Amino acid sequence: MNVPVHALKGIGARAEEQMAAMGIYTIKDLLFYFPFRYEDFSVRRLEEVQHDERVTLQGKVHSQPELRFFGKKKSRLTVRVLVDGFLVQAVFFNQPFLKRQIELGQTLLFHGKFDRNRLMINGAIVKTSASEEGALEPVYPLKGDVKLVSLRKWIAQAYEDYGQEIEELLPEPLLGKYKLLPRQQACYYLHYPQNMDMFHQAKRRMVYEELLLFQLKMQYFRKRTRESTDGITKVWAEDELNKFLKDLPFELTEAQHRVLKEILTDLESPYRMNRLLQGDVGSGKTVIAAVALYAAVLAGYQGALMVPTEILAEQHAESLHDLFSSFSVEIGHLSGSSKAKERRETLAKLEAGEIDIITGTHALIQEGVDFYNLGLVITDEQHRFGVAQRRVLRDKGMKPDVLFMTATPIPRTLAITAYGDMDVSTIDEMPKGRKPIETYWAKQDTLPRVLAFIEKQTAKGNQAYVICPLIEESDMLDVQNAIDLHAHIQAVLPNLNIGLMHGRLHADEKDEIMQQFASGEVDVLVSTTVVEVGVNVPNATVMVIYDANRFGLAQLHQLRGRVGRGSDQAYCILLADPKTDAGKERMGIMTETNDGFELSQRDLELRGPGDFFGVKQSGLPLMKVADIIEDYRTLEAARQDAVKLIASNAFWESEVYAGLRRALEEEGVFSTEKID
Ligand code: ADP
Ligand code: MG
Repeated sequence: MNVPVHALKGIGARAEEQMAAMGIYTIKDLLFYFPFRYEDFSVRRLEEVQHDERVTLQGKVHSQPELRFFGKKKSRLTVRVLVDGFLVQAVFFNQPFLKRQIELGQTLLFHGKFDRNRLMINGAIVKTSASEEGALEPVYPLKGDVKLVSLRKWIAQAYEDYGQEIEELLPEPLLGKYKLLPRQQACYYLHYPQNMDMFHQAKRRMVYEELLLFQLKMQYFRKRTRESTDGITKVWAEDELNKFLKDLPFELTEAQHRVLKEILTDLESPYRMNRLLQGDVGSGKTVIAAVALYAAVLAGYQGALMVPTEILAEQHAESLHDLFSSFSVEIGHLSGSSKAKERRETLAKLEAGEIDIITGTHALIQEGVDFYNLGLVITDEQHRFGVAQRRVLRDKGMKPDVLFMTATPIPRTLAITAYGDMDVSTIDEMPKGRKPIETYWAKQDTLPRVLAFIEKQTAKGNQAYVICPLIEESDMLDVQNAIDLHAHIQAVLPNLNIGLMHGRLHADEKDEIMQQFASGEVDVLVSTTVVEVGVNVPNATVMVIYDANRFGLAQLHQLRGRVGRGSDQAYCILLADPKTDAGKERMGIMTETNDGFELSQRDLELRGPGDFFGVKQSGLPLMKVADIIEDYRTLEAARQDAVKLIASNAFWESEVYAGLRRALEEEGVFSTEKID
């Protein structure tokens, strides 16, 4: 099977070239080049056929065919056919020869697109009976000048000559567990199913195989990363850490306890942590980060907390100061706007080990920043900690544990696909006493009423955000919008203190406004999306998002997450007049759920994985037969199976698993290249 396609009868240099252009080089490639749909030649009843559906109808020829030519070669042939008691007009394009073949009174199959309104079947193909392979004929994706009939012929030939060589990869226990078809049969039925049920069976088998191989690969990488990288075994005084936990102003939720245990176990282990901590906005990730950092500090190491924006970095520095106020932990902050002298001092302290925990943006680990002994890096709301950053640290002789925190709600399916080589911890529970945010969708011209509502809330001592239209083409326009809206709101609500924040402000100015908002001096903050990630002002109860339909669901959810962080009831008001169905649906979804994971799953279904927020960067692999959205149950099952297999001795030794091992080997998985 691993022989070039020209080994097949009737395939010459020309055909070989055509196939190469489609990425088909070997007989095996040809056999596993699957159809993307089938021409369905199973006969349907007229009354159940939808408008515009491609179907096959059976009918008796009721009129002489009429043929008309357009220009030299184009022609149109029509014939009336009696189908289930109705007269249907069948229309054929460019098949003039049918004039002599179709006879009055004959019963034939007509395949084409059905027009319910005009009782027509368009672009028809005629058949005397179902084809020999069955009622469904494969339609393959084509490239270049390859013809469907040729490809069908080549694949049929390949199957005839080499089909018996298709070997089973899956071990008996797994085949039995899921009642999967044997590989050879599944391959055959994917090309030539006799009915849709058979197709589903065949596809189910191939999808599982593909996902299992994929997950085995990920699990193998994960195991190898763990075992080939010597991390730092951290030892700390348990009671010191417990003191810190007792000192917290709240009880950790059960989910927080669980993920904390997972993280601390990693820190203690000789392996290097490579873990993703996901939890919806407001689920309390920061405090988990603080505990982990403290454990590292108690063990005698430094920790770094990296975030995407300066505002967030400062806020984290402050949160840490608060949390550690009665503990002797030195917290430093590196910011792009720090004065040169200040910066030099901080860097010197960091290098001397006088700073225990440092916060800052991603620049933290680059640009000549040296640590005394960095033991833990946590990145918050950040893309995954990439190979490049890891290398920077390794070159500095450091092998810290790495924890990556995200509130970008990634549906579980995507997480286990994109981050399959990482360990994943999930906080799936909100702190007690949180009231779900009430979300409303209103027309933009209701702004006056919304402002009246804001006035009421501020009278109760609460605060509000108003997020401005997002205009992607120009952030200058964003700024202008924010300025205008700010002026408008200040005029309508003259007794309130309205703050303004946008990306064009100087870092100092931003800080000042943020401070004023956090302290309650500013009642309403009009802002562009700079407040999107992480900002924590628990007293704010209203989030108004202007032109909300211009945002994606993930971003709307992030913005909404800025309120509802205290014990008061919070509200999110989406002002939007969406024109598209998808836009309306997005607004609807926002009002229906507060759960980031559910929301992201629906977002994914709405948009497909290619468009999904952040997925492009995450490098999701392309699947041949599987669809990670539709097949997510199988993906989960395959993952569990893969985890067990990779950890078992049998997988590595037993003959039963030789097929799987060989398949992985063929993909180059077991190459010995080092990956840390
Ligand atoms: P996120 O996961 O979005 O980063 P934060 O860590 O900012 O969430 O936490 C949101 C708010 O919830 C903070 O004010 C934090 O102090 C508070 N919080 C965290 N954990 C708990 C808890 N177990 N019980 C009550 N409040 C909590
Ligand atoms: Mg956070």
